[in-house]
Amino acid sequence: MTRVATPGDDVRVAFVGAGPGEADLITVRGAARLQDADVVLFDSLADPALRQLAPNARWIDVGKRGFSGVPHAPRGGHENTGQDTINALLVKHAQSGARVVRLKGGDPSVFGRLEEELEALAAAGIECEVVPGVTAALAAAAATQRPLTRRGAGRSVALTTAMTKAGELAAGRHADTESFYMAGKQLAALARRLVAAGWPAQTPVLVVSRAGWRDQLASEHAVATLGDATVLHSGRPTIVTVGVGAAALGAATIGAAHDDGRAATPAAPTPEPAAPAPTRATTPTP
Ligand code: SAH
Repeated sequence: MTRVATPGDDVRVAFVGAGPGEADLITVRGAARLQDADVVLFDSLADPALRQLAPNARWIDVGKRGFSGVPHAPRGGHENTGQDTINALLVKHAQSGARVVRLKGGDPSVFGRLEEELEALAAAGIECEVVPGVTAALAAAAATQRPLTRRGAGRSVALTTAMTKAGELAAGRHADTESFYMAGKQLAALARRLVAAGWPAQTPVLVVSRAGWRDQLASEHAVATLGDATVLHSGRPTIVTVGVGAAALGAATIGAAHDDGRAATPAAPTPEPAAPAPTRATTPTP
């Protein structure tokens, strides 16, 4: 039986979900772990404003960016710090007696390479805990006020990476609502894969980039017109939500006619440049 660390244990390393966007989306517990930290290993998705919670800690950028052109990415960071290097840094700092926070964008357990890092610490006999965070798919649902589950129509949600380990684009149809991570660069190709996987061409799709940030953008499409979102969300971390959870309220049926040009998010000025019709881009209400 695996021993589960609790906050009272002598935990040397805390994996902390930074949340998907601005610093205040971290959990209270995650913030407390940062305040106690001597060393913070962070990646490029975490809000730099989180540094204010641990100004005296040593902050080490171990970012491995899965996308390019992100305006908030820290300067001087490593483009491609290898996983082995991160594992070694975690072990080294923990063994030196430091309290280490491994800060990961969103939730550490979702497409965060957490298993490798947990295994490295376990192999070195180092206690750790995992503090959950808000994953990007949930921030996308919040941004658009489109619940991922719908009573009666949407009973299941899948979190799916659109990229295989070999770096190939892949889609599937695993749930009533499916949220695709890491697909932003290849939306037109994803549309073809979605049809091939059995999603009807008129299935509603929401594309949300930089969810949880002030400049978040959302646009709504059907599977057949998903490629229209490419320019609007270019170079930004993006979630693609397909199926019931992407539908407008009251229209939550897979395959429902959806491409009607209504805004995906309520109340917001449309940023320039305007999204291509029939897409509407929206920002959150200030
Ligand atoms: N652990 C993270 C996911 C890391 S994988 C989480 O739980 O959210 C990186 C992918 O997450 C990106 O390619 C993008 O698909 C998605 N992503 C991360 N932050 C995002 C954001 N603020 N808005 C939209 N998508 C985001």
